[in-house]
Amino acid sequence: MKNFFAKEPKTKIVWGLAVLIGTVISYHFLKNTTEQPKITEKIQPEKIVKKTLAKEPLEILEQTVDLRRSLYITFDDGPNNGTENLIEIIDEAKIPVTSFIVAKHVKGSENQKKRYKRLEQDTLFEIANHSYSHAKNQYSAFYKNPENVVQDFKNAQDSLKLKTNIVRTPGRNIWRMKNVNSTDIKSSKLAADQLYKENYKVVGWDLEWRATKKMTLRDDHKIMLKRIDSLFFNNLEKTPRHLVILTHDQYLRDENSVQELKFLIASLKKSKRFQFKKISEYPEIEGILD
Ligand SMILES: [Zn+2]
Repeated sequence: MKNFFAKEPKTKIVWGLAVLIGTVISYHFLKNTTEQPKITEKIQPEKIVKKTLAKEPLEILEQTVDLRRSLYITFDDGPNNGTENLIEIIDEAKIPVTSFIVAKHVKGSENQKKRYKRLEQDTLFEIANHSYSHAKNQYSAFYKNPENVVQDFKNAQDSLKLKTNIVRTPGRNIWRMKNVNSTDIKSSKLAADQLYKENYKVVGWDLEWRATKKMTLRDDHKIMLKRIDSLFFNNLEKTPRHLVILTHDQYLRDENSVQELKFLIASLKKSKRFQFKKISEYPEIEGILD
């Protein structure tokens, strides 16, 4: 070896360079091959697993099944003081709701007519029948006479030229439709049966947002949220996964009540667990007139 390198110095240099280049290439090759698995084995397979096992089935489920519960927020006795505030709140929140109108209130004054016109023209509001006279607030006497009860609702129907046959009985939580039959005060039963016979669909409520003696909303929105959750949790709604909420236009005259209704709607929207609907969308109600 000693003689060979002594006799061939150029060859020695060439060999030396070859060994050096070989070492550099080997180093890079080994470096790359040891780093490469970190990318392929640790990061990419994880992404593949997540996509196939978690994301795709969830996306498919969301596309095929709407898991949200339905809320029907309804306002009774309008038009009334508070109707302007109600319209403002709903226009801002952009959710569909229902107004159960007392026909006599519409005829009350020019101001009342204007309020009704605004409700009628606002596509977020559905108008439904809450009688002509509101039983003159003499409920027991009113429900003793089923024919008069039917006539009172017919008067409201004609007077307001309503597009649905959905009614709510004044002072009584009564339900008459294909899948729901319920009467809170039994002496009103015959009148309710007669309304249903005449093809009216009678809708009560699952939850009421009540008033104080000063006619402002009594509880705050957090309490109402808990009640909504509790009714669903305990399966107390009339139709599973559908909840009808009642309150009144005239409880929305003060700033605090306005804020509380805004907060309730905002919280319900934020939770993404609910969808808002008009009362004619209630299951099997078949309340739209041709
Ligand atoms: Zn009422």
